[in-house]
Formats: sequence, structure tokens, C-alpha cells
Amino acid sequence: MRVFYDLYEEAVLWGKDLYQHLQSVYRDRAQYCLIFVSSHYARKLWAKHELRQAQARAFREHHEYILPVRLDDTEIPGLNATVGYVDLRSHSSEELRQLVLQKVFGQDVAHEDLPELTWRGELVDFRGEKAASFWPAKLEQAQQQQTYVANVPRIRYGDESFNWHADERPCHDCFAVKGEYHVPGCDVEECPVCHGQALSCQCLSE
Ligand SMILES: [Zn+2]
Ligand SMILES: [Zn+2]
Repeated sequence: MRVFYDLYEEAVLWGKDLYQHLQSVYRDRAQYCLIFVSSHYARKLWAKHELRQAQARAFREHHEYILPVRLDDTEIPGLNATVGYVDLRSHSSEELRQLVLQKVFGQDVAHEDLPELTWRGELVDFRGEKAASFWPAKLEQAQQQQTYVANVPRIRYGDESFNWHADERPCHDCFAVKGEYHVPGCDVEECPVCHGQALSCQCLSE
């Protein structure tokens, strides 16, 4: 995720035709436009231009584009008072950050995925190699996951490693004939993961 904030972009903006450049950022290139509504914002010349471009874009879009954040109760001409906003007087900046990330990446973005989703290309030295900065934590987290849940095909009567003489007789425990599935819990059924007795190994859950 890239954030356009003009103090971050000082070198980029230096000498540029700001009218053109801001038009392209706010009207054409951004995914969302956060507007921090305050008395300071209301007085700023460029802010008015930015808002106009953002509104031109919002008008074309079928989903919300301008995301107002309030620092005080200033009325901004042209900013619809009925648009939902976040009030920074009752939300911390960390909560705002979470809300923005949910907006961009979806409601159920996991907290531990954020370093990867917001990665800006930083590398770290890791085990003698260069790795993405979020990688060591991701690898450490992977050590907590000790199993997979998988859909593994069941083994039919007659396909077991052990010869139960399925050609000659039905399963002695559940009466399945060759090619049928056993009744779950039958003591002949073979585990398709460890090839032990399905009933007594720990691999399976229904
Ligand atoms: Zn059986
Ligand atoms: Zn097993």
C-alpha cells in the first residue's frame, strides 16, 4: 500500500506543476482518498483543489472513494455532511490505521498479515541471505502450525495394504463388499495418511 502525503513527497513534488500532479493523484491514481477535516484544512488553498479532484472521482465511482476523518466540527463546503466519517476525537490513530487497512484489504485482514500487505520492499539480513523484512516473523509463525486439514480419499474395502480376502468375503466387521467404503469406525478400514488402522491412529477427523 502506498500513501500519498505531501510532506512525504517533498522531493517528488519539487518543481512539478502541482495542479496537474495533484489532479492525477486524487482524480486518477488513488484507490481511496482520506480527508482530514479541520479548520486548518478548510483554509488551505491546495486542500480545496484536492477535494475538488477527489469529488470528481467520487462522482464517477460506484463505491465510496472519499473517506473523511474529522479532527473538529468544521464544515467543509462541498463535502457532503451525510457521508460516514471517522472521528479522531474518539478514535486513536492506531484504530484509524486498522480501519484504513480493513478498507483497503477487506474486513477480515489478519493482524499478523499486515506487515506483508504493507511491505514497501525493505530487506533484512536473515540466516546469511537477504529476506523481505516480514519474513522472519512469518517463518516463526509457521512453526506454530503443526498439522494440515486435508481432504484425503478414503480407502475402499479390497484396496488395503493388508489382504483381507475381499474377493472371497465381505468385511468381517462391517459387511462391506469389495469396492465399497467401510462403515466409519470399522476396524478393517485403513488410514489413507499413515496406512495404519483408521480407527486407532490420530490422523483423521470427520
Ligand atoms: Zn469394514
Ligand atoms: Zn493414520
